[in-house]
Amino acid sequence: MILDGLNEAQRKAVLTTEGPVMIVAGPGTGKTLTITRRIAYLIRQGVNPGKILAVTFTNRAAREMRERAESLLGKEAMGVFIGTFHLLGLRIIQDVLPGEFIILNRDDQAEILKPLLKGSGIKVHRAAEIISRMKNLLEEPDQKMKEIYTEYQSLLTAKSALDFDDLILRPIEILADQTYRSGFTHIMVDEYQDINAAQYRLLSLLTQTTCNLCVIGDSDQAIYAFRGADITNFLNFENDYRDAEKIILKDNYRATSTILRASDQLIKNNLKRIEKNLNPTREGGVPVTVVSVPDEKAEGSFIIREIEERIGGTSHYQLIHKTENSDGGSHCFADFAVIFRTNAQSKALEESFHASGIPCQIAGRLCRFPGNKLEKALIERKEILERGLPFDEFLNEVINESGLASEFGESDLTLLQAIASHYKDVAPSEALSGFINELILLTPSEIYDSGADMVTLMTLHMAKGLEFRVVFIAGVDEGLIPCSMKRDDVDIEEERRLFYVGMTRAKDELFLLHARSRFLYGQRLNPSPSPFLKDIPGELVKNLTIPDRPKEKKERQIRLF
Ligand code: ATP
Ligand code: MG
Repeated sequence: MILDGLNEAQRKAVLTTEGPVMIVAGPGTGKTLTITRRIAYLIRQGVNPGKILAVTFTNRAAREMRERAESLLGKEAMGVFIGTFHLLGLRIIQDVLPGEFIILNRDDQAEILKPLLKGSGIKVHRAAEIISRMKNLLEEPDQKMKEIYTEYQSLLTAKSALDFDDLILRPIEILADQTYRSGFTHIMVDEYQDINAAQYRLLSLLTQTTCNLCVIGDSDQAIYAFRGADITNFLNFENDYRDAEKIILKDNYRATSTILRASDQLIKNNLKRIEKNLNPTREGGVPVTVVSVPDEKAEGSFIIREIEERIGGTSHYQLIHKTENSDGGSHCFADFAVIFRTNAQSKALEESFHASGIPCQIAGRLCRFPGNKLEKALIERKEILERGLPFDEFLNEVINESGLASEFGESDLTLLQAIASHYKDVAPSEALSGFINELILLTPSEIYDSGADMVTLMTLHMAKGLEFRVVFIAGVDEGLIPCSMKRDDVDIEEERRLFYVGMTRAKDELFLLHARSRFLYGQRLNPSPSPFLKDIPGELVKNLTIPDRPKEKKERQIRLF
């Protein structure tokens, strides 16, 4: 079952369990699927699940991987550590320093920084950014930041507090100390192209005692270059592990060949890359639709109309369930994603969705998520759990009793339930601390429920690793893609990779929307289409132009009143 349906290269990746392995492959070639199968295979081979570590880039990706591993293996998969670098870091810290410490959220961090910045002319948000960058790149503070940084760190120590980046830095210190052993014998890292200097350091310390390290990624999808990530990560890996087995996956199972060719032609324009040939397994497909709309409102309306057409009848939304699959049956809402470059675009799109009644969730939105309150409520009532209630039922009871149900959105509750269900057979104290760890690390931008039947609205950065039947990229305008607004240092190749990540999320259909007039950052602009559109060959594209709306008489009459 574990090897079922895998192609030869994927099979090899699963079966090569000893020594360093590097899997480099384009989007949709089954990299993530292969790691999941590899975890299952390792356990079947008798490796203790507790010695297996799989690092993912987001909590969501971790959850999906865990679910897939569990469906292959059942409970055996529970003991595997599947999580982000931050969750891993947290676990290492808790192993060594089980005492009380707090993790600062952005607001807490701002409170600490504010008084330190008086007279420096540096804004809080900027200082937090500089500190985070330094910690991620393992750099020393420059002259201007030195004093602020030192004071900041000593305040953190005094409060027994850690900021988010310390979840990587502290474990580096702990592991460098030699006495602590993490005990992992088989380590896998997905989206390896995006690891930064600190994560790289952590990883090399973890592999001091094992060389069974498997890294997986695609350098064309490196979208965190500002943190020092690009093809150099893979080049370094080959240097560090000269005997590494290199496995290339060539078959793309996700996209139609049209979408695959269109995205391939785009990314070929990057100079700094390793050329690869992707082989489509799905022939044909409809052309990529490039749509020119009058403004951002028309952009939203166009998207809504296309979704409605595929769902079939707006009045039946509530009746439609996820019964059909991608074999040409009708679509469900979760089959659609609307992806954009900056959060500033989400408001207009969200308004269009709300007006239409189509259910949508916005990943990447700064939402209110009362995680701290829930944590407190769980701890206050922990004796209920100790009486033997399964963790998921305990969570329900606490949410209801504490009156927090009304403070969480419906999709947040579903997500919490999904996390809690993983802890239902775990010892009470472990379940509670495990759940709370995940809760702390659920950054607002990740509050997103992959199981809910809703259209997803999200930024290009958030879309990494995901796939949808129909993808709309909104704002394919000059100034947004590549994003040069409000910035003076544009890395064109990175921006092209980001657009590539967006395009390659699509399985069946891809729409690229450009607005001739757009209200953004407080002003009305008249952008040209994105220059990247020229990279896509004309024969793969269908162009549509939605004409300007005629000025409505009615509107003028209303104004006269
Ligand atoms: P990305 O680079 O975007 O993260 P990926 O390489 O991780 O992509 P997956 O998400 O693992 O790709 O797989 C893409 C799709 O292809 C999934 O729907 C997966 O189920 C399917 N797939 C992968 N391998 C096979 C296979 N051998 N046979 C059929 N479908 C497959
Ligand atoms: Mg993947």
